[in-house]
Amino acid sequence: MLKNGIECLVRNRNSKAIITLSSSSSRRRCIALRNLCSKTQTQKEAATSTARTVPRERAECVVIGAGVVGVAVARELALRGKQVLVLDSAPTFGTGTSSRNSEVIHAGIYYPPNSLKAILCVRGREMLYKYCYEHDIPHKQIGKLIVATRTSEIPKLIDIMNRGIQNGVDGLRMIEGSEAKRMEPELQCVKALLSPVSGIVDTHSLMLSLVGEAENHRTTFSYNTTVIGAHLEGNNICLHVSETKHLEEWNGRCLLHPELVLIPELVVNSTGLSALALAKRFDGLHSGVVPSEYYARGCYFTLSNTRISPFKHLIYPIPEDGGLGVHVTLDLDGQVKFGPDVEWIEGIDDISNFLNRMKRELCAFKCSC
Ligand SMILES: Cc1cc2nc3c(=O)[nH]c(=O)nc-3n(C[C@H](O)[C@H](O)[C@H](O)COP(=O)(O)OP(=O)(O)OC[C@H]3O[C@@H](n4cnc5c(N)ncnc54)[C@H](O)[C@@H]3O)c2cc1C
Repeated sequence: MLKNGIECLVRNRNSKAIITLSSSSSRRRCIALRNLCSKTQTQKEAATSTARTVPRERAECVVIGAGVVGVAVARELALRGKQVLVLDSAPTFGTGTSSRNSEVIHAGIYYPPNSLKAILCVRGREMLYKYCYEHDIPHKQIGKLIVATRTSEIPKLIDIMNRGIQNGVDGLRMIEGSEAKRMEPELQCVKALLSPVSGIVDTHSLMLSLVGEAENHRTTFSYNTTVIGAHLEGNNICLHVSETKHLEEWNGRCLLHPELVLIPELVVNSTGLSALALAKRFDGLHSGVVPSEYYARGCYFTLSNTRISPFKHLIYPIPEDGGLGVHVTLDLDGQVKFGPDVEWIEGIDDISNFLNRMKRELCAFKCSC
């Protein structure tokens, strides 16, 4: 239920309120539609037609999602003088995948040569180390070993090395099992690929720094604010915005009604695992431009009862289908984690996705497309 009053104010650079998520019963009409989560055209059109009746505001740049991608994009836009508004369904930044991962600074070894992933990972790693150094973000270039535990795995390890070299990853070196054992006495393998440029980073400090810089350049963050869909009007994307609490209270039997339509000049959909589900709710967006999503969940296992980490490096197996394989990661306090494992799953509804609800049941998600 919506209470009366203003729930969210977003101030522009002149400190005038420009966006207000307000409540009035007329704006919260429920339209009886069953099975709202399905994204049929009729339902999208119904959502669009009700969205035409709610208040509208214009904005310059709207970034949807305040994970590491959203806050980095927001900071960059703000540094270039743009007026940026970041919306996130959660109560603060970085509550999604960005705070539930291995915190590894990847070297760029695995990706297909000349792919965007390969090019951006190599360049991004260099930029990330520089950023961490310049902004005092805790990080460490501890290096990584990818190991072959059987001779049959050696050809795959050689392929990985060649790929990394083609991608421009510096310092890659194949070492014998005996040398790997000298580096890591608890490790047993026949050969290992050493990547000295791999490292770890404190992701929370990283995001905090990016958010701080963005805010210092007049970016506004509006938390507890969910984009539930959008429609196209000419060249404009009209975002349907709702307070998150209404989604949490939503019974699933009526059409969710936005409280505000936001019309930005630039929209960045950086909602992580929700990005495709959200894009599919954009009425008028050609479905062909939205890739299919495939979800997997995985769990990490913490090594407890050890005061001193038995490992000094990140240690990875040969990659497996859907992931890099259960690996050893260290955080900056020396805590050892094993994981994640991979279990392919289906059937997450959009709203649970927007609310990061999967975290209650699942340890981690991955979406590949
Ligand atoms: C198990 C695992 C391990 C990983 N390990 C590493 C690693 O070691 N190194 C590495 O570089 N990468 C790693 N990654 C990848 C990395 O974590 C992700 O690429 C990155 O965190 C994605 O950030 P994001 O900002 O796109 O998404 P997220 O961090 O998920 O942020 C999305 C945000 O959008 C918000 N949101 C969602 N829907 C809506 C909506 N409708 N309206 C408003 N807000 C919404 C969410 O609340 C969330 O805050 C790993 C990933 C996984 C799954």
